[in-house]
Amino acid sequence: MHTSLAASPVSSPDASSPCRSGASAAAPHAVIATLAALLVASTPLTAQRAPVSASPAGAKVLAALDARGDHYAGVAQQIWGFAEVGYQEVQSSALLQQELKAAGFALAVGVAGAPTAFTATFGSGKPVIAIVGEFDALPGLSQDATPAKKPISEGGAGHGCGHHLFGTASTASAIAVKEWMVANKIPGTLRFYGTPAEEGGSGKVFMVRAGLFKDVDAVVSWHPGDRNLADANSTLANISAKFRFRGVSAHAAMAPDKGRSALDGVEAMTHMVNMMREHVPQDTRIHYVITNGGRAPNVVPDFAEVFFYARQSDMRVLDQIWERMLSAAKGAAMGTGTTVEHETIGAVYNILPNEVLARVQQRNLERVGGVKYTAEDRAFAEQLRTTLEAPVPPIDDAARVMPFVGGQVDAASTDMGDVSWAVPTVAMSAATWVPGTAAHSWQAVAAGGTPIGAKGMMVAAKTMSLTAMDLFTDPALITKARAEFDQRRGPDFVYKTRLDREKPALDYRK
Ligand SMILES: [Zn+2]
Ligand SMILES: [Zn+2]
Repeated sequence: MHTSLAASPVSSPDASSPCRSGASAAAPHAVIATLAALLVASTPLTAQRAPVSASPAGAKVLAALDARGDHYAGVAQQIWGFAEVGYQEVQSSALLQQELKAAGFALAVGVAGAPTAFTATFGSGKPVIAIVGEFDALPGLSQDATPAKKPISEGGAGHGCGHHLFGTASTASAIAVKEWMVANKIPGTLRFYGTPAEEGGSGKVFMVRAGLFKDVDAVVSWHPGDRNLADANSTLANISAKFRFRGVSAHAAMAPDKGRSALDGVEAMTHMVNMMREHVPQDTRIHYVITNGGRAPNVVPDFAEVFFYARQSDMRVLDQIWERMLSAAKGAAMGTGTTVEHETIGAVYNILPNEVLARVQQRNLERVGGVKYTAEDRAFAEQLRTTLEAPVPPIDDAARVMPFVGGQVDAASTDMGDVSWAVPTVAMSAATWVPGTAAHSWQAVAAGGTPIGAKGMMVAAKTMSLTAMDLFTDPALITKARAEFDQRRGPDFVYKTRLDREKPALDYRK
């Protein structure tokens, strides 16, 4: 996922706001809007005393991270080179485990039914602060670290979402915070979560479902991007499934009456779902590809498959839309004399923002500052930006920290969503890519393999470390974050995932 997509306001108290049309959608947004107003009006968190992040201890942690910048750039470069896709991140996961183990963390590997998922824990007791790291690559995005399109291996995988930086920066941060805890005898538990298969594999959903976040008080995270920003925005919930239709094959000219076309089933379903678009809330997104439409026009296909995604800013609304899509599948099968079954591939919640934590993260990000380019970085960026679609923001945006925003919905989805409904969660974006770069592009892979990516990553590592330090030393901060979390989630919230499969789809990229 990423945050550089156009955001649409959805939590405005204005009744004409586009997603206030559904009664069930209106309630949570109204709660969020009221909360946001309350929070903006409240006194700053720093009113009582200066946070530890602003003390010499904070400066010491930043210096320690600077001193290891080259080492972590090397770790990220290795994972960038491995470019392992979801649930196959064997080397990438092992490398991060090795870093954490060497630093004194206790590992639990292969958790939640995924061999590449792990936790690394230091300390004991409360509070329990978590730092999350991803490391999966994307198929088909192989690209060299050059400002012109040049795959390293045609059709190979590449780090188009910057997860090699994500996992490495989070590891760097966990180690720096652990060293600060040891040096200052800070009580509590610090736990790193190595979370595989973010890209479509819903790795974190299985980890949440397995109860691995149960004792956690707050989660600190980030994501690579084209700018520096901590926000209290949400994302879109997303459910995806493959619908498999089965019919009867026959000679398409000599015995069509003997056949029942599975492709007809697929087409009838897509037709009905396309008509549904007019009758769902505006901020719903539905997309599909026909992954199997038969093999030869002169044979009535006895098998066809369509792969659907549906996204919405509110999981409860999406759940209703999804039921209607399941009905469309059944109706399509009925009308075409075929049968249908579906396999749920992924299901993630929208992000439940936490403004209390996001404002702390933003304050720490402003302290750390943006990414400083050398003359070489600038030359790379100048050349790369000629390949980007206009309007392209100025290169200097990489050095800036954007103003705080909240109450918007970014048109992306992430399995961090499920984590955010289980534990108060904060993330941020750091400029690991040339400003104007979209996630999942060759330009993102390219910059991610250069010092631009490595420097952006350290902005995130430093900011997350300061935020974790504040969480360990300010119990009131955790209490406030929890109060906001409880209010946003509502007293009746029950976590319910559509991802009913027993084990992760370990072979979904094979
Ligand atoms: Zn992504
Ligand atoms: Zn991502």
